[in-house]
Amino acid sequence: MGKRIIFATKNEGKMVEIAVIMRDIGMPVVSMEAAGLAMDIVEDGVTFEENALLKARAVAEIFPDDIVLADDSGLEIDYLNGEPGVYSARFAGRDTPYEEKNRILLEKLEGVADARRSARFVCVIAAIFPDAGETVIRETIEGQIAHEISGIHGFGYDPIFYVPKYHCTTAEMSPALKNELSHRGKALRTINKMIEEKIGK
Ligand code: IMP
Repeated sequence: MGKRIIFATKNEGKMVEIAVIMRDIGMPVVSMEAAGLAMDIVEDGVTFEENALLKARAVAEIFPDDIVLADDSGLEIDYLNGEPGVYSARFAGRDTPYEEKNRILLEKLEGVADARRSARFVCVIAAIFPDAGETVIRETIEGQIAHEISGIHGFGYDPIFYVPKYHCTTAEMSPALKNELSHRGKALRTINKMIEEKIGK
């Protein structure tokens, strides 16, 4: 069942996270670039599931003997009807610094009471197995949009994503704690377990 696990991403940060979580799997875990694939995959789906699947399928077509994984993630804000959602990376322009994107979101929620500031990070991972079809899993971390930017860890929208139970934003958490609670950490551990079961580890 597969010779390698190929993760369809160009993001080295994601590769590091996945390599740590999958270090005991007993198969090489490589990025698509390390596998020799330099193509750009257009993420034109309207759901996280569609985007993760289209990335995974594009790579699996080229490497049919390997296990292929792809993820898609983003921030859903209920008050904004789920935006920025699948457009999280592109929100207010792909190259706009996150300090600016975060400021724009805080402005959109100015004066909105805590009870209506609910939000979540979503991570969907699609997995394609050479002889066992496709699987898609979704994990989330629930929180609220903070009233101001705070914290220096993490990336993206972390400085405005407040987790009431821990009284801080995900940018104020240690990377280890964020990984334990986060949408991506949970999704990677779920998929890791699934692969271990499939390969009989
Ligand atoms: P993609 O999954 O690489 O397409 O990017 C998703 C986008 O969602 C990122 O560029 C961030 O803007 C946002 N995002 C996803 N996960 C996180 C997170 O853990 N912290 C902060 N922002 C995130």
